[in-house]
Amino acid sequence: MNMIDIDHMFGKITLSIIKPDAVKKGHIVPILSEIIHAGFNIIAIKMTELSIKSAQIFYAEHQKKLFFESLIKFMSSGPIVSVILEKKNAVKDFRVLIGNTNPVYAKKGTIRYLYATSLEENAIHGSDSDQNAFKECLFYFSHREIFFKKDL
Ligand code: GDP
Repeated sequence: MNMIDIDHMFGKITLSIIKPDAVKKGHIVPILSEIIHAGFNIIAIKMTELSIKSAQIFYAEHQKKLFFESLIKFMSSGPIVSVILEKKNAVKDFRVLIGNTNPVYAKKGTIRYLYATSLEENAIHGSDSDQNAFKECLFYFSHREIFFKKDL
């Protein structure tokens, strides 16, 4: 039973997705290992596959972009691993850890530098704000699937 409600975690959590390209290439464990070594706690995790409809909802903010259709096709092309990560300054620190959206510009050592293949197939997602992190966590997980450490 979770004694701490997710509402109390606002500002301390972020949502990550290991995208279909990285799952297909067998990078789940190396990527999770990088994340844990960087000090993030995994408080929820699941392997799933997005339907076209679910991917369209998740990426709704990009629906007017030219790459939208291609992005939706890619994100629903195979299994993904979604994860809720807990840490102080989770959103900001995780964006630093994953690096630039385009791997060409990603700093050496970042997850996208190490594992992304292109601007679209860039291995990993990280929420871009605390508000979106909260929304995205509840898009993938129910309260019963999120496990808080007692001392948080
Ligand atoms: P993020 O927050 O770093 O993931 O970047 P965005 O929110 O801007 O974009 C969402 C996702 O769409 C990215 O992670 C890429 O997978 C993809 N994407 C972004 N820009 C482009 C683009 O110009 N072309 C294509 N094909 N995909 C893109």
